Amino acid sequence: MDSLLPINSARPKASRSRQARVVWGANIITVGGDAPVRIQSMTNTDTVDVIGTAIQVKELALAGSELVRLTVNTPEAAQAVPHVREQLDRMGVDVPLIGDFHYNGHRLLTDFPACAQALSKYRINPGNVGKGDKRDKQFGLMIEAAMRWAKPVRIGVNWGSLDQELLAGLMDENNRRPKPWDAKSVMYEALITSALASARRASEMGMDENQIILSCKVSGVQDLVSVYRELAKRCDYPLHLGLTEAGMGTKGAVASATALSILLQEGIGDTIRVSLTPQPGEARTQEVVIACEILQSLELRSFVPSVTACPGCGRTTSTTFQELTKQIEDFLRAQMPIWREKYPGVEKLKVAVMGCIVNGPGESKHADIGISLPGTGEAPAAPVFIDGEKRLTLRGDTIAQEFQKIVENYVEKRFAVHATAETS
Ligand code: SF4
Repeated sequence: MDSLLPINSARPKASRSRQARVVWGANIITVGGDAPVRIQSMTNTDTVDVIGTAIQVKELALAGSELVRLTVNTPEAAQAVPHVREQLDRMGVDVPLIGDFHYNGHRLLTDFPACAQALSKYRINPGNVGKGDKRDKQFGLMIEAAMRWAKPVRIGVNWGSLDQELLAGLMDENNRRPKPWDAKSVMYEALITSALASARRASEMGMDENQIILSCKVSGVQDLVSVYRELAKRCDYPLHLGLTEAGMGTKGAVASATALSILLQEGIGDTIRVSLTPQPGEARTQEVVIACEILQSLELRSFVPSVTACPGCGRTTSTTFQELTKQIEDFLRAQMPIWREKYPGVEKLKVAVMGCIVNGPGESKHADIGISLPGTGEAPAAPVFIDGEKRLTLRGDTIAQEFQKIVENYVEKRFAVHATAETS
C-alpha cells in the first residue's frame, strides 16, 4: 500500500526570495523569505494623543502584534510620533512603528525628520500620493525619505483608493482587445499593476528591493485570493495580506480567516493584519487575537497554549464545562506575557476540557493535560489526564480552581526544566 500522504502538512515553503528588515533598536523583525508570518495591527487612537496611542500600541504588542501601524495624517500627528516612540521606549516596548501615510506623506516625511526617523517603516498608498504630474514627484519624495533614513516601505494598494487614472487607462486598453476582459479582471490587473509599477519606480530610484513589501487589499474573499495568487506569481517581494474592511464581529473574523487561510496554506503571505471593526466596547487587541488564532490553527506559529473543548450536547446539561473552558482560556492568555519569558515553549501546551465520557477521556489523552467533566447522569467525578495518562480525579465545587492549579504546576515543572536545559 502506498504510504499515506501528509494531508494537513505545513504550507509550502514561502516563495518570496526577498526579505525585508523592520528594525527598532535591537528588535529586528524580518519579513519574507524564510521568516515566520508576522502579525501586524493598527491603532485607532488619535496619534496626537501620545499617551493614549502609546498605551494602545503596548496593548497590541503584548497581545502578539510584532509591528504596529499608526495614522500619520497631519503635522500634529507627525510631531507626536517621536513622542509616542519615546514613551514606548520608556515603557520597555520595542515594537517597530509603521507610519500610515495618505495624500500628504511626502510633506510630512520631509518636514518632520524626527517622525521619519522614529518610524520603522512607511506605508505608501500609490492611489493617494497625488494626481497627474504631482504623483511621481510626491511618491519620489517618500521613497527618498525611506532611503535617507534606511526604512523599508510597504506599497499598499487598496481597491477603495485605487489610482483612477491607471484604472481608466487599463479600461481603455481593455476596450481595444478583440475579446475584452470582464470589469473585475481589469480591476485585479489595475491593483497589481499599481503595486508593481510603484515598486519598479522605487527600485529605479535606488531603493533596495529587499526593503519593499507589497499589498493589494480588497474586501471580498474570492477577490483577495485571486489578486494575491496572481501577484505572488509576478514578483518575489514579501507580501502583506489582509482583507480590507473585513467587518465586525463574527463576520469580520470568519471572512478574514477564510481568505487568509487559503492564501497562507498556498505559501502566499509574509505578514497579516485582520482589519476588524471593533464591536462597541471591544478591545482593539481582538484583531491581534484573531490573527494569532489563524496562524496557530494553520500550525504556522504558536502564540498561546491551545484549549480543545467539545461543543457540548444533550449529554451535558450543565454549563460547568463551558465556564471551565472560558476560565482556563482566559487564565492561559493572561499568563502569557510572563510565561513567554519564563517558560519557553509553553505556547505549544495543549489543554482539553471535555463535557462527558463519550469523547472526554480520548480527547484528554491527546492533550498534555485534559479533564473530562461528568455529563448528565454520570458519576460526579472529573478524571484528569496528564501526558496521556489518568493521574487523578477531581470532585466537588472546586474542580475549576483545582484544575487551574494543576495546569499551573504542570507548566512550571515541564517548561521551567526545559528552560534550564536550554540555557545550561
Ligand atoms: S464530549 Fe460528550 S458532551 Fe461533549 S459533545 Fe461529545 S458527547 Fe457531547
